[in-house]
Amino acid sequence: MYPVMLSLAGRPVLVVGAGEVALRKIEGLLADGACLTVIAPRAAPAVDALARQGRIELRRRRYLEGDVAGFALVFAATDDREVNARVFAAGRDAGIWVNVADDPELCTFHLPARVQRGALQLAVASEGGAPFVVRRLRQVLERRFAAEWTEWIDAAARFRREVRALDLRPADAERRYDAFFTETVDVERLRARVPTAAELATWLAPAGEGAGRGGVVAFRPAPARAAAARGPRPGLVSLVGAGPGDPGLVTVRARSRLLAADAIVYDRLAAPAIPCELRGDVELHCVGKEAGHHSVPQEEIDALLVRLALAGKQTVRLKGGDPFVFGRGGEEAEALRRAGVPYEVVPGVTAALGATACAGIPVTHRGESVRVTLVTARESAKGDGPQVRWDLLAQDENATLVGYMGVSRLAEVAARLVAAGMPASTPAALVAQGTTARQRTVVSTLGGLHDAGVAAGIRPPALFVIGPTVRHAAALDWFASRPLSGERLGIFAPAGDLGPALDAAGAELLELPRPLGPAARVAIGAAPLTGVLLRSADEVDALEEELAVPGWDAETPAYCLGRAAAERARALGWRNVVELTDATDAEGIVAAVAGRGPGIALAGTRDA
Ligand code: SAH
Repeated sequence: MYPVMLSLAGRPVLVVGAGEVALRKIEGLLADGACLTVIAPRAAPAVDALARQGRIELRRRRYLEGDVAGFALVFAATDDREVNARVFAAGRDAGIWVNVADDPELCTFHLPARVQRGALQLAVASEGGAPFVVRRLRQVLERRFAAEWTEWIDAAARFRREVRALDLRPADAERRYDAFFTETVDVERLRARVPTAAELATWLAPAGEGAGRGGVVAFRPAPARAAAARGPRPGLVSLVGAGPGDPGLVTVRARSRLLAADAIVYDRLAAPAIPCELRGDVELHCVGKEAGHHSVPQEEIDALLVRLALAGKQTVRLKGGDPFVFGRGGEEAEALRRAGVPYEVVPGVTAALGATACAGIPVTHRGESVRVTLVTARESAKGDGPQVRWDLLAQDENATLVGYMGVSRLAEVAARLVAAGMPASTPAALVAQGTTARQRTVVSTLGGLHDAGVAAGIRPPALFVIGPTVRHAAALDWFASRPLSGERLGIFAPAGDLGPALDAAGAELLELPRPLGPAARVAIGAAPLTGVLLRSADEVDALEEELAVPGWDAETPAYCLGRAAAERARALGWRNVVELTDATDAEGIVAAVAGRGPGIALAGTRDA
């Protein structure tokens, strides 16, 4: 379907029908200046009123063949499908555009849903196939685009007239339009402002530029990144380790590269490391890579990285853990080198070290373990390529063996180690989703680990750990004994002092921007939230408005500070509202989330 914006001013338009549906069409058409004829035996009172005021011509009778002649556009909105079909056929045969309300088959054109801010119009359409999403998208846009855009679009049109009057070379005019746009629009938050007269003057006649044609000397330079994107210089590709899953274990440099990126190519396991506050225009490419889901082949990932870099984009290739530890980071580096693309490696906390630390298993320990081996249990499965020498590993008692990608092959690995002489009684553990709020640890022996893992329902991503130091896990279980272990909480930014307090108490905290950008949705979607903290009714509304926040629904516990927030949440039908007084401090909030009721300012109860 081909979108057009029609100028209907003074054009003859026919509406057949005069009920409520027709009335909405009539009002819209009148607002756009159409010259309206309405045919219907009976009319809704509002349509009658328009006729009495002389704003439409109302013919109080049935539709007759030939009525469509001479009109530019025809609308049918009667409750009689046969009449609608006759209007449609007559219009189609006469070469007149026809729209029958709510009947996509009887239309030679559809009406998009629209959001209008003065002269600025956004239209949403689905070729008639999915009006329900069109409606919802329209609502989203309606909320996102505040009234300020009305004045902004007028200012933009005035600015254009003034630029045109200068009669500049196209490139010079474009630079002025760039200045207007980048300075007045916050593309991430979709906010706009009307510029001041002084700003307009600067943009129209930049300092150092002679008047009239030519002579552009020192206009405000475009930001460095944008300049690189336009130029032929390839962008830097950063192969970044995202750490094992806890967003707090993302390195300082990884975070800085992510915040500066034009494009991010990430594996699913690395999604929690994506900062929620990323600019809305950052390209996000999910290339899968989760056990069992090799969605994008390695060559395509390599090609994508090269393509993005050659387009001048600062690109982050975000991988779980460390890029060079069972992450094929070396292959990607080789592909980039071959293509002449500059790259760097930002190391990350590899799962073996993160997960064992959080499971209370020191990978080395004086007098017990003097070696750590990181091993993949997958390579040996294929039978081709280099094999893991389980027989050699089995000989070394004073060592810790950490196995990646091995949950499904654990029985076979254990059998090989035992066959090669490792005692079946050697302490062994499985750690799933290590370092995250969903971390689970199963401690057993080499001989019993497979069954223990199956019994506990351990699923990837998980590591196995075999060696004497595994026996410390119970005593050193600092991770799960924190008050908020297992909590993954959302709070609107800025979290202020609450951030460090909740983090220290063991919660995984997501600081959500308003509105939620695509990056925040990816980061939240990595795992369900176990609760949200809301500090005002306004924040409650803001969360509710985000329709489909991944990982959040009306059952999610909502810790509301203050009566107003709690009442609003209950009014919206949230079913798990915990009301706290306004004055609740960080300590009180931690206690409330931890479910330790007494002693905290619980002014209400969890709603059933
Ligand atoms: N480059 C990554 C490893 C990628 S291979 C790193 O350095 O950590 C993927 C394997 O890593 C998974 O099959 C699982 O064995 C392990 N893994 C990744 N994240 C994990 C986590 N949070 N807990 C336990 N194992 C994890």
